[in-house]
Amino acid sequence: MKVRIDEDLCVGCGLCVNTCPDVFEMKDDKAVVKVKALPPGSEDSVKQSKDECPVEAIIIE
Ligand code: SF4
Repeated sequence: MKVRIDEDLCVGCGLCVNTCPDVFEMKDDKAVVKVKALPPGSEDSVKQSKDECPVEAIIIE
């Protein structure tokens, strides 16, 4: 599983960073994916972050 963020859509609400701080962080008022590979056990919170994102900026591939 891979995840990325569409920075054109992200409104910087910070929800994904709160839900999954092991994978997402804020940078210049946008969320970014801070890891090259997802840490073991993070898949569920990444999926939760995707569901919670108000603008559907989180893309799971
Ligand atoms: S939840 Fe969505 S809009 Fe909010 S910071 Fe994360 S990617 Fe951006």
